[in-house]
Amino acid sequence: TAPVITIDGPSGSGKGTLCQALSRELGWHLLDSGALYRLVGLAAEKHGVALDYAAGLADLALALDVAFIPGEAGQPTRVLLEGEDVGVTLRTEHTGHLASQVAVVPAVRDALLQRQRDFAQSPGLVADGRDMGTVVFPEAGLKVFLTASAEARAERRYKQLKDKGEKVKIGALLKEIEARDARDSQREVAPLKPADGALILDSTDLGIEEVYQRVLAEARA
Ligand code: C5P
Repeated sequence: TAPVITIDGPSGSGKGTLCQALSRELGWHLLDSGALYRLVGLAAEKHGVALDYAAGLADLALALDVAFIPGEAGQPTRVLLEGEDVGVTLRTEHTGHLASQVAVVPAVRDALLQRQRDFAQSPGLVADGRDMGTVVFPEAGLKVFLTASAEARAERRYKQLKDKGEKVKIGALLKEIEARDARDSQREVAPLKPADGALILDSTDLGIEEVYQRVLAEARA
């Protein structure tokens, strides 16, 4: 079986950037598991499936018609849901909110399990998420838990949204991040926590470049 590196942590910790850089450098596949939960949320909205109808959501997750098309030279990966490019919609706060609602449904998580494991192909996989090391790839050779203070994450998110021209207040973002942290770590299914044996890194002071060098060194050790 192909080697796997799992990177788990809260949103805004720098996971996404780290995983993209690692997969590019190593030439390994990339699993953005958050995108799968976002896609289930979008599919539910599109097909009018209620967010508390577990069996309906699980059916959607099992049958999810999605394609990830790698971008050419520096272009982002294109994501097609039922043949339709959902690139911009996928990343909005609204879609993130839908994702976090479908993610608490155990049947949805089960339905996505095999699909996620199928990404572990030669020459290797970098898996980005919340439960990559704890649930999906417990046998991974390298597990990382990347965190950062809520303030640092709010700051990063604020910059990202500002660059996209979205109007937001940093205080509101901080509140939302703290609320999401509480929900993610206290929920019954796949709560956010470091996997056994995980390397725990904090990007608050370390900086994302140092985190990258550290993980790359571990990956090559
Ligand atoms: O990482 P991203 O913001 O795209 O994830 C969206 C939501 O999907 C998260 O807030 C979380 O609730 C859920 N998620 C999850 N397990 C994962 C990845 C994401 O529950 N492995």
